[in-house]
Amino acid sequence: MSLLDIAHKYKNGAIAITSWLGAGGVPVAQAIAQNRANVCLKCPHNNDNFKPAEIVASAIRRVIEIKNDSKLRVDGEKSLKTCDICLCPLRTKIWTPIDIIQKGVTEEERAQFATVPGCWQNQ
Ligand code: SF4
Repeated sequence: MSLLDIAHKYKNGAIAITSWLGAGGVPVAQAIAQNRANVCLKCPHNNDNFKPAEIVASAIRRVIEIKNDSKLRVDGEKSLKTCDICLCPLRTKIWTPIDIIQKGVTEEERAQFATVPGCWQNQ
């Protein structure tokens, strides 16, 4: 079953997938997601203090449910929190294709990512 098929089981699931992975709805390979996670797990910008508004939190929860239902997992993911530069939930962002990510990065964020050694969003 494809990710989009799984998403259709959820209310607004297809919209959630598109906002997460782009129109194609295809995550990066597990090895890429794991490599990204390994960098974030050691990064001081992996921050547990960000508390999104309820409407945002609800959308994040839906994407995480779809991700878990799709068996997309990496080692250490429970310790992945929010990147305090882009304010994105890392548990899901590590699966997003870089071209989709790059479209949403602001110049200010790009400058901040460039100061973080090894940051995978600095491309
Ligand atoms: S700055 Fe880069 S490496 Fe650090 S938490 Fe954010 S995405 Fe991960």
